[in-house]
Amino acid sequence: MNTLPIVSSKAQIVDSEDIRAVVETLQSDWLTTGPQVEAFENDFASFVGAKEAVAVNSGTAALHASMAAIDIQPGDEVVVPAITFVATANAIVYEGGTPVFVDVDVETLLIDPQKIEEKITAKTKAIVAVDYAGQPCNYDALQAIAIKHNLFLIADACHAIGGVYKGKKVGTLADLNTFSFHPVKNITTGEGGMITTDNEKFAREMRCFRNHGIETDHHQRAQKGTWYYEQKILGFNYRLTDFQCALGRVQLKKLPAWIARRQKIARQFDQAFLNSGFVKPLTKNSEIIHAYHLYVVKLNFRDYSITREQVFTMLREKGVQVNVHYLPVYLHPFYREKYGAAKRLCPVAEQVYEEILSLPVSPSMSDTDVDFVIDQLFEF
Ligand SMILES: *Cc1c(COP(=O)(O)O)cnc(C)c1O
Repeated sequence: MNTLPIVSSKAQIVDSEDIRAVVETLQSDWLTTGPQVEAFENDFASFVGAKEAVAVNSGTAALHASMAAIDIQPGDEVVVPAITFVATANAIVYEGGTPVFVDVDVETLLIDPQKIEEKITAKTKAIVAVDYAGQPCNYDALQAIAIKHNLFLIADACHAIGGVYKGKKVGTLADLNTFSFHPVKNITTGEGGMITTDNEKFAREMRCFRNHGIETDHHQRAQKGTWYYEQKILGFNYRLTDFQCALGRVQLKKLPAWIARRQKIARQFDQAFLNSGFVKPLTKNSEIIHAYHLYVVKLNFRDYSITREQVFTMLREKGVQVNVHYLPVYLHPFYREKYGAAKRLCPVAEQVYEEILSLPVSPSMSDTDVDFVIDQLFEF
């Protein structure tokens, strides 16, 4: 049987322009905390249309800095969807907070706004919305709940850079919006992350938080000709290097074309699965632009008497890089043991988790690659 050598497990696209930008920075005076950091922050802020962008060294650091900015304290509760990457919940735990898991919508796997209010208590401080697969959440509904209960709204937009909700870009939809530049994400800096916000106080505090809690950075002190600094809060070393920021700036320029290609691939999948009894794509809401970090389908294993394990293994053997995103967070041993999260806490998430499969989607895939993936799926 034919294999698919073209769709490799290499997720990132790095070309000579990217390499040149990194090498130029390596030859410059600043390897870290230099001019490229601010330049990347400015490019990113203007790309999404936010007042401030704060660069950090991972999406997880972006989430952690956000939790620190809104001053999550031991005992505080933060609402998160059951289906997300573990880092969304871990960031709450880092600050001593308690993640409160809310079930997802069966069609989109986005947090179900109708199930949030029953989980809100006097201790609830924030809601984290995860733009799963690259689809922006229902921010009108989430904002209404946040305003009504006086909660912060945080967007984990690690999947959704390039997405739009009702004409507003992802990165402007919540009080704090977090991004990741891990190689599997829509743009990469190797490791890296960003927070966007219109709140200048939060931005200032997060720049301090990423630098050990010290108010001025190395570059600023060099410019002012001073050595003196003070540590104001307990921070971390979450700094992103200058050569990574140089890479990020070049990657960001290419993002619109990459998103367009991801959307075209998604349409090709959509068309193919239109009348399939076996493959059902997640629903795409109206009034949004989907960033298609993932193309997730639900498979009808019951009627086709096959297991996901079999489908997964056979597709991987053919070179198709399928995946599963994600086991409901509270079913991980850490959360089960520490938070006593019981089975059936979020029944929709648990049910849908058994049915989902993420198909490969990358701007480097050709139409023929996409057809190959479709053909392999229809073999079942
Ligand atoms: C990737 C990802 C993160 C974490 O980003 P890192 O850069 O890997 O730390 C957090 N949340 C979601 C939804 C992600 O996909």
